[in-house]
Amino acid sequence: MKRFMAWVISTVALCAMVAAQGPKRVVIHAGKLIDGKSDAPIADAWVVVEGNKIVSVTPGGSPPAGADVIELGKATVLPGFIDTHTHILLQGDVTAAEYDEQLLKQSIPYRAILAARNAHLALSHGFTAMRDLETEGAMYADVDVKTAINRGEVPGPRMFVATRAMAPTGMYPLLGYSWELEMPHGVQVVDGVESARLAVRQQAAHGADWIKYYSDHGYFYGPDGVLHSHVNFTAEEARAIVAEAHRIGKPVAAHAIGSDGIAAALDAGVDTIEHGDGLTDALIDRLVQEKVYWVPTVTVSVYVAQGRAGNWPKMIETQRAAFAKALRKGVKIAFGTDAGGFPWTEVNQAREFHYYVEYGMTPIEAIRTATTTAAELLGWGDRIGSIEAGKFADIVAVAGDPLADIRELEHVAFVMKDGKVYRNDLK
Ligand SMILES: [Zn+2]
Repeated sequence: MKRFMAWVISTVALCAMVAAQGPKRVVIHAGKLIDGKSDAPIADAWVVVEGNKIVSVTPGGSPPAGADVIELGKATVLPGFIDTHTHILLQGDVTAAEYDEQLLKQSIPYRAILAARNAHLALSHGFTAMRDLETEGAMYADVDVKTAINRGEVPGPRMFVATRAMAPTGMYPLLGYSWELEMPHGVQVVDGVESARLAVRQQAAHGADWIKYYSDHGYFYGPDGVLHSHVNFTAEEARAIVAEAHRIGKPVAAHAIGSDGIAAALDAGVDTIEHGDGLTDALIDRLVQEKVYWVPTVTVSVYVAQGRAGNWPKMIETQRAAFAKALRKGVKIAFGTDAGGFPWTEVNQAREFHYYVEYGMTPIEAIRTATTTAAELLGWGDRIGSIEAGKFADIVAVAGDPLADIRELEHVAFVMKDGKVYRNDLK
């Protein structure tokens, strides 16, 4: 009995000690801090992180006593980057053959292993969150990758996943094979209003955070000089997808490249327009009025243009002109690359930043597309996207000054996600 009481007393004392200590505290010393909100960087700042949260940001002075210091005094510290358009289960698809080969010759388990590799790569490049916009025939494997990351089994960004996406019969690869063969599909094939509602429910049941559908295909320039397209779904079908998704609390992303596809997606009430090359003045006005986000994915447009020829090279210029107008008119432009549409191992998705600057944004505006604006698009504006008290500790750093040279962001040297350091080359 005496021994039992001694055990109780020592256990209580130990618990009290742990409670008094609280979660682990670390302090990041930032030579320059771009917090994601302010217009100008803050010099010589102290960012205090407790567990997985930021608890304070203080300019100047000395570090709080008793905390471990991560010395980044010569570096620029920023919020972790957010890419709002990726495909972790895809390894590049400039040609139809490249795409088809992945669906025909690679098992979904093999593709999921590559996806885990891609997630690690993205995190090491400073991407602490990603919206992955469909698995390209790999069913619900994005949910598995997300689960493995969340359980700490593999390193990767916070994942927001769309599972299978949707297109009607005959509007999405694999196409062009003998009618005698039953080929795999790069999406869930959906025809009719009831089928659309069912697909939304099935995808949500298996873990989709977002619903994605393909609004158009077959892009061509009309005599009016506008980039047009063939619309995939009837208005009733598209409305059914969006209404059902919204009814159960899931936002909707639409692939829409030509002006017709963009108009149809806006009519259906989607939350984000993906690619959007064919945005006209009138459609840009609608984006502003209807508060719909635009995710331009310039990196993939430039990457695939040469290999695809046809209208693709001209579409880069069309998109560039739309970008300048959208920027002037105040469209909510969110950072998205379509990584996976180019090989993860070849191109660092942070390349997207320099296109935005080349297309007219200031470096700080370009940084906001991947931080505050992207976080708002995800509905996580209160949790990630800036370095301030109360947010998750998703923090990156580069050695140089990205406001002087935006391409510095392609050389991230420090990565913290959820309070844990995954990379530090600045020691
Ligand atoms: Zn895509």
